[in-house]
Amino acid sequence: MKKEDLTIFIKSEAERLGFDICGIAKAETVSEETIQGYNDWIGQGNHATMGYLERNCEKRFDPTQLVERCRSIICVALNYAPTQSIEGIADYAQGKDYHKIVKDRLYLLLQSINNICKVQGRAFCDSAPVMERYWAVTAGLGYIGRNRQLIIPGKGSKFFLGELFVDIELCYDAPYTRNLCGNCRKCIEGCPGMALSDDGLDANRCLSYLTIEHRGKLPENIGKMMGNCFYGCDRCQAVCPHNRFATPNEIPELQPGVELLEMTTDNWNTLTKEQYDILFAGSAVERCGYEQLVRNITALNEIKSEK
Ligand code: SF4
Ligand code: SF4
Repeated sequence: MKKEDLTIFIKSEAERLGFDICGIAKAETVSEETIQGYNDWIGQGNHATMGYLERNCEKRFDPTQLVERCRSIICVALNYAPTQSIEGIADYAQGKDYHKIVKDRLYLLLQSINNICKVQGRAFCDSAPVMERYWAVTAGLGYIGRNRQLIIPGKGSKFFLGELFVDIELCYDAPYTRNLCGNCRKCIEGCPGMALSDDGLDANRCLSYLTIEHRGKLPENIGKMMGNCFYGCDRCQAVCPHNRFATPNEIPELQPGVELLEMTTDNWNTLTKEQYDILFAGSAVERCGYEQLVRNITALNEIKSEK
């Protein structure tokens, strides 16, 4: 099959598998400017304790270090905008673990390609040293907003990103070169932790990092910033005008279970390990762990009891 026809086939297969958008980038070393920006960001300690972001940079910047003779990066996005937000829990964590959902679909896509031509590849979704948003921009999916999220014009930012690195040549999309933030600064102004600035994100101050990735004690008075969020924080997306285009996803695995929908504030305050296991089996929230989730809920309650 000619690469033009194969490219059309791959994009139609991606759509059939439920991905909302698919673009393809040529697998080249990441641009010098991006590498410099990334290294500066790390050098300034903005990644907090996420040491894994410092490691494997040779893989992060060179796709052939992850897949031998990698020639193309197929980038996809899967909508996770919920029908309604659940108090306390970030929208992306309402259903089952997105890493598996996205990668399973990408491996089905790889299988479909393999039925047509011999291809070697690997699927990624927030699971390896991959510059996901860089590749999404390069593949023409959208641009990186001031909230550091990938914004897909006309669709918003509530999307999981995934990539299929393959060793075949395809037709490539033009990179997305526009920035549609304009004069808007709603995310910077609305960030409770003052984690966002024109220089980017300081994870040390980001509630999403602090409530999920950060181990040990939380900073003093963090409850004041948390609002009602004890797992993640969606505020820089909630205020973003691009998300007015968001439409609820209809993926069965991403829907919240009835147990989660029925949780009350009192239930959260007395959450047991057994309840946690039922609520979050196979969910991304497992990454946080029971003790940390209780730590977060306690921090919220300390502030409430002071009022
Ligand atoms: S997730 Fe919350 S704390 Fe982090 S940058 Fe966005 S608004 Fe700020
Ligand atoms: S809130 Fe405004 S500045 Fe922030 S990402 Fe959205 S459009 Fe850009």
